[in-house]
Amino acid sequence: MTLSAVSLSDLVVERVGFGLFVLDRDMTVLMWNRFMQDHSGLTAEQVVGQSLFTHFPELPRVWLSRKIESVFQLGSFAFSSWEQRPYLFKFDHDRPITGGVDFMQQDCTFMPLVRDREVVAVCVTISDVTHVSIVQREREEAVAKLQEFANLDGLTGIANRRFFEARLRDEYTRWQRYGGEMSVLLFDLDHFKTINDQFGHGVGDTVLRVMAQRVAGVVRAQDTFGRFGGEEFALLLPCTPLEDAMRVAEKIRCTIADTPIDVQGRSVPVTASVGGAAARKGVPAYDVLINEADAALYSAKRQGRNCSVAFV
Ligand code: GH3
Ligand code: MG
Ligand code: MG
Repeated sequence: MTLSAVSLSDLVVERVGFGLFVLDRDMTVLMWNRFMQDHSGLTAEQVVGQSLFTHFPELPRVWLSRKIESVFQLGSFAFSSWEQRPYLFKFDHDRPITGGVDFMQQDCTFMPLVRDREVVAVCVTISDVTHVSIVQREREEAVAKLQEFANLDGLTGIANRRFFEARLRDEYTRWQRYGGEMSVLLFDLDHFKTINDQFGHGVGDTVLRVMAQRVAGVVRAQDTFGRFGGEEFALLLPCTPLEDAMRVAEKIRCTIADTPIDVQGRSVPVTASVGGAAARKGVPAYDVLINEADAALYSAKRQGRNCSVAFV
């Protein structure tokens, strides 16, 4: 027996690693290859000659009919990517259970089959792109995580200085445009060098971590609490006048000072000094606000530490 070109192409269609089927204008199936058979569990004998929707009522009927009709009318290719529509057929995929991917992810092409310049049928191909979609999803998750970590301080898990300053800049711009109130507090732990010297740097680190978490637990959700430097912290208080901000300062100062921090069976007493400043006319930029809070903090240190001072 000699292999004719026709029987060769039949073999190829049967063996290719993607789904291939042909529809007429009424959505009747004219051809159904092995891939479609293996993944749907329905043989060509069962499907050919019948409407596609008879065996697959869950298909997006309106969308698919429109797509096929447009190929008949325009005579040009159409596509559907897994990113727009994750799958057409509910086929199982051969990947281990992976979060988010329930069925085989599919790219589809709709190809006009033309005879005498007329579209006589549409050939649909289904490619399994599950692996691509999984890699892409993992990449997106990794980027989101990196973005989140890029805003956080590695030791304490609260906002880092870069993120804090970005938030402050945004809030300051909003204040300049719409007015209202906003304040900033700067905290610096007292005699922290002595704590390091007395208990060791590791204990110092733990003190910073526990203290930051403790304070983070008492600030409001709309405020931004960040680590500004070594043992210096900052709190941005939108919509808050200086007087209210100084009440918050006292609350936080007491939160720190009232309970010593237990580290490795040792009780480490910690206190902090606080400086506060509020945006008002004549403060030209957000970093001036920081400088003013810093000046107030310096004043708190000079006044004997473990106290809060407002910049006036
Ligand atoms: P005061 O602020 O009350 O004037 O005294 P201080 O001893 O806290 O002052 P200073 O700002 O000079 O010292 C800060 C110390 O904080 C110096 C540094 O060793 C320590 N420090 C800074 N960052 C870290 C850190 O990440 N971990 C630990 N354990 N110590 C740190
Ligand atoms: Mg200090
Ligand atoms: Mg300091």
